[in-house]
Amino acid sequence: MSETKATVDLSSLVGGGDNPTPLSQAKLNANLTAVVPFTLEGLPAGLHYCDEPEIAGYVMCCGTGCVLCRVGKKVEDRVLLPVYLPLTQRVGVMLVSRKCTPKALMPQLVDHIKQAEAAGQRAILFICRNEDYTFTVDSRHLLPTDDDGASLVKQVLEAITAGTVRIDSVVQTLTSAQLLAVDSIKRALALREG
Ligand SMILES: [Zn+2]
Repeated sequence: MSETKATVDLSSLVGGGDNPTPLSQAKLNANLTAVVPFTLEGLPAGLHYCDEPEIAGYVMCCGTGCVLCRVGKKVEDRVLLPVYLPLTQRVGVMLVSRKCTPKALMPQLVDHIKQAEAAGQRAILFICRNEDYTFTVDSRHLLPTDDDGASLVKQVLEAITAGTVRIDSVVQTLTSAQLLAVDSIKRALALREG
């Protein structure tokens, strides 16, 4: 007996519908972002930034044969670090550059977290991105009254361990066909490879 289906779940049509994620990208900008780190274990990833309006954001480098590598888009080495965002009460993932210059994010992040740890405390960080893409990081010790998202964080960490949530789900993964559906990328590849 056939059954008439009146509705369709759009997410099932675009893929990824079977992997709902509670994670989102923690975007750092000129406004102060409050961040409560709960781990220093991040996921290394190679990303391409695509400013094409159809994409407008980071896309995973898929390695061998990657269309974006073939058209000469730079690969940015990042570490995807999950953090708790007390303002939105969500777990977000920061895309941290591996740069170790003094005003880069990573060394400042590690420094503030380690300093708090040395005092037997956890840190809450206040991060803002400067116009020259350096970062200003300030911190204080997390107080018992501060929201550290403990139960959500525990849930997310368990889901990551179980493989039901992927940290890299916050970055778009596009197939070659999807990338080549973007006119300017298609043209770039044709110009590059003839
Ligand atoms: Zn690539």
